[in-house]
Amino acid sequence: MTGTVYKSTGSWYTVKSEAGDFIECRIKGKFRMKGIKSTNPIAVGDIVDFELEESSDKTTGTIHNIHERKNYIVRKSVNLSHQMHIIASNLDYVFLLITVNNPPTTFNFIDRFLVTAEAYGIETILVFNKIDTLKDDTLDEQLYMQYVYQQIGYKCLRVSAAEGKGIDELKEIMIGKITMFSGHSGVGKSTLVNAMEPSLHLKTKTISEQSMQGQHTTTFAEMYDLSFGAKIIDTPGIKGFGIVDMEKSEISGYFPEFFKLQDQCKFNNCLHKDEPKCAVKEALEKDEISWTRYNSYLKILEGDDEHYRTDDYAN
Ligand code: GDP
Ligand code: ZN
Repeated sequence: MTGTVYKSTGSWYTVKSEAGDFIECRIKGKFRMKGIKSTNPIAVGDIVDFELEESSDKTTGTIHNIHERKNYIVRKSVNLSHQMHIIASNLDYVFLLITVNNPPTTFNFIDRFLVTAEAYGIETILVFNKIDTLKDDTLDEQLYMQYVYQQIGYKCLRVSAAEGKGIDELKEIMIGKITMFSGHSGVGKSTLVNAMEPSLHLKTKTISEQSMQGQHTTTFAEMYDLSFGAKIIDTPGIKGFGIVDMEKSEISGYFPEFFKLQDQCKFNNCLHKDEPKCAVKEALEKDEISWTRYNSYLKILEGDDEHYRTDDYAN
């Protein structure tokens, strides 16, 4: 039988079979995962093969195979610093919720998020929430932000979770997909999900909000079926995702508008910084590339000597 992992709590995994039954499963044997060393062999979102085993009280299963992941997001393991913990896999979209103020979301935060998502091969849709609160300066700022990202090709939505605006368009995109909501605490993730599915009460509150500050509690992701045919993965206590070690030369590859021009730079290892005849800098001078994006790029580039790490979303 084949199914999808909806929940994992230590050694037990809740798997939803293709017939729609939820079965508690354990792992049989050892899994050798390609490419990644993680503390958890199986994550929410994984597609697995399992066999039923009849025990005296209830039906359980054993997982013996995992299908190749389309993508996955990770977090540094709390206990073993060199190992990754896979938060979730097989995501179709991540919605990055953005508010101009209350709380402010900076260009720099968005760009760091997008670089990571690009590196993981996860499509991000920018959702500007609380549009009901915008006026004058803040409205201009929001529209400008949206313009910057739409120019690059990122899909942007404007919603008001409080007033129910833009929710139908969002739901339309989510039908048949596995999605996740990210963004700073206070941007309206829970409010938005409640506006879509009032009966669902997610645990989206971060650890500090649950007054467990400072404690390293293990947080488990969980997938939910929504009534209109979407699946969402709730990741309590996780406001972003990260840990990508990348070489300096790789970073611009995750800025799609830079990547497109890279071939036209004089040097094929151009970092688009001080090199002559750089197509990215020429585009910048012509306002074809946004300065906010370029500045974020420089910040990321100079972030670390050898590698760039995004395991911390300090804003
Ligand atoms: P989360 O931490 O991202 O889950 O954010 P919450 O959903 O808890 O929302 C934080 C605060 O913003 C709450 O007081 C919400 O009522 C408020 N809020 C959320 N969405 C909107 C919106 O669209 N407009 C307005 N005015 N307030 C909102
Ligand atoms: Zn260049």
